Amino acid sequence: MTTQLLQDLVLANHILFNEGVLDGFGHISARDPSDPGRFHISRMIAPALVTVDDILEVDLDGVVHDERNRRTYVERFIHSEIYKARPDVHSVVHSHSPTVIPFGVTGTRLRPVCHMSGFLGNKTPIYEIREFIGERSSLLVTNQKLGKALAETLGAQNVALMRGHGSVAVGASIKQVVYRAVYTEVNARLQAQSLALGEPVYLTDGECIETAEAMDTHLDRPWQLWVRRARASAGATNTD
Ligand code: MN
Repeated sequence: MTTQLLQDLVLANHILFNEGVLDGFGHISARDPSDPGRFHISRMIAPALVTVDDILEVDLDGVVHDERNRRTYVERFIHSEIYKARPDVHSVVHSHSPTVIPFGVTGTRLRPVCHMSGFLGNKTPIYEIREFIGERSSLLVTNQKLGKALAETLGAQNVALMRGHGSVAVGASIKQVVYRAVYTEVNARLQAQSLALGEPVYLTDGECIETAEAMDTHLDRPWQLWVRRARASAGATNTD
């Protein structure tokens, strides 16, 4: 893992907190470019507080490799099983971003209502953990079996909702997955507002493909803004 990637992973933690995707909970990881069987994720602390020193190395069975025996998040299997199932994925965000949650519990499917969120596609799947662990659980993805089931629910999509819990977004890079996580939350807000006014006109499948391709060429622009904004607010609150 290069220093630049580690620094980007730290910045991504701060951005996702600052943009309202992560709070005290949730996490982002990045696959190691030189060893696809390993990924990097923070130890078990709030994303806004993460520094380079907090980043741990984990294998695709969810085992942490750390000389200091530090622990990472109990839901690391979300990441390990998606990396196992999806060689194209190099970064994963799991969040409880609040505006998305209602779409996981009502039968109203999360669908793209604007050109910034074409990556969602029109078939956003929902992970129903009861199908895999029964009616009494913490709803947390705490083992390989539950992580594998989530990866299968995600399939080839970029985002999956987790009923009564949150969502997961995947991407080919840290910048792409941060963009997708932010705009999944934005789209949920816009779609809820649209539904309050009437029946929304959703993007067609073809518009989803074309808008996603177009926006993927502009990932640096919002990233630079989000970095500056996260640094400014971290400085203001003295948490960096
Ligand atoms: Mn969670």
